[in-house]
Amino acid sequence: MSEVREFRKAKSKAVLEGEISRRELLKMAVPFGQVELDSSKCTSCGLCAFDCPTEAIFISAGEEAETFRLLFKNYACTACGKCIEVCPEQCLRLERGLEVDKIGSPAKVLFEDEIARCSECGSPIGPWSMINNIKRKVLANGQVLPHLELCPGCKIKALLS
Ligand code: SF4
Ligand code: SF4
Repeated sequence: MSEVREFRKAKSKAVLEGEISRRELLKMAVPFGQVELDSSKCTSCGLCAFDCPTEAIFISAGEEAETFRLLFKNYACTACGKCIEVCPEQCLRLERGLEVDKIGSPAKVLFEDEIARCSECGSPIGPWSMINNIKRKVLANGQVLPHLELCPGCKIKALLS
């Protein structure tokens, strides 16, 4: 018997024995997903967007590039689970399903953060959540990383002066 037939047989058995409801079974078969994000954990690394094969999750700069935004197009998500797999902070949650009434509506903002600027020249450095995450990790290792508030160019100048 093929693997597919074995799988169908196991599913039917689970339904018949009440281990899984028909509703849950239908949900498992839906090739769409809805992603939720725990904003207290996201560090703006962008890995989920870089690895999403359908660009359902994508990065966009907000007004005048003052903000970092992670957006989600609900109808483009195939529930492949890649974003969940790559997120280093485990802040994403995936549920199968499609919110039909939201098809065609603008992408949902999953996460938004202000871009930090170099305290010397004002150039954008990166989202605050990313900088604060680096600070936390460096401090946890008992090290001191100087000039985190400076852009690479001003950091070099400061180190050489
Ligand atoms: S589950 Fe897959 S398709 Fe959906 S957002 Fe994550 S990586 Fe993209
Ligand atoms: S959700 Fe996870 S992978 Fe995506 S930007 Fe935030 S920390 Fe990175």
